[in-house]
Amino acid sequence: MVGAERKMDNKKALIGEYLGTIEEFMPGEGTYAEDGRIYSSTFGDVGIDRENHVVSVGKKCLPTLEIGSVVFGEVLDIKKNAVVIIVRKIQGFEGEIDVKTGLFVSNIADSYVERPEDMFAIGDIVKGVIIKMEGNLIDISTKGPYGVVKAFCRRCRYAMILSDKSPDVLLCPCCGDKEKRKVAEDYGQVKEL
Ligand SMILES: [Zn+2]
Repeated sequence: MVGAERKMDNKKALIGEYLGTIEEFMPGEGTYAEDGRIYSSTFGDVGIDRENHVVSVGKKCLPTLEIGSVVFGEVLDIKKNAVVIIVRKIQGFEGEIDVKTGLFVSNIADSYVERPEDMFAIGDIVKGVIIKMEGNLIDISTKGPYGVVKAFCRRCRYAMILSDKSPDVLLCPCCGDKEKRKVAEDYGQVKEL
């Protein structure tokens, strides 16, 4: 079954094309079931939501970004008033993407942040939400529960852990360095990465 799923990824389905059985999947958007078999009702990319075992056809089922998407990405660059984050994954989707997004200083935290470099370091893994899409410009926010889910020590690159003293201070178990970040609610608990 894993083999069959893999083969269907990135595949385009024709109308009426057989996709699988109802034992394997729930029929999702762009599909219909007949006699226990699922067929495509439209032409488009086949998408499989492995978490919920849903097969669907059409643009919505492949990992595509939209406003409200919760995403994971890596900090590529830190500028004076924004952080450049390369989004690699969309929560709930298996596939990897590679999309450049911007996190403006005003969207980092609920409280005022003066300098983005005080809250992020290059290479940090960030969980955020897409708040704006205009052409190629995509804005992400890390307000509220979002923020860094995995950080690496600026001195020795070791993976940092939460300190019990302050929610926004991380501790390096290797060299003892303490560093500030905009830490996500689920720091260190994200299995998808
Ligand atoms: Zn260290």
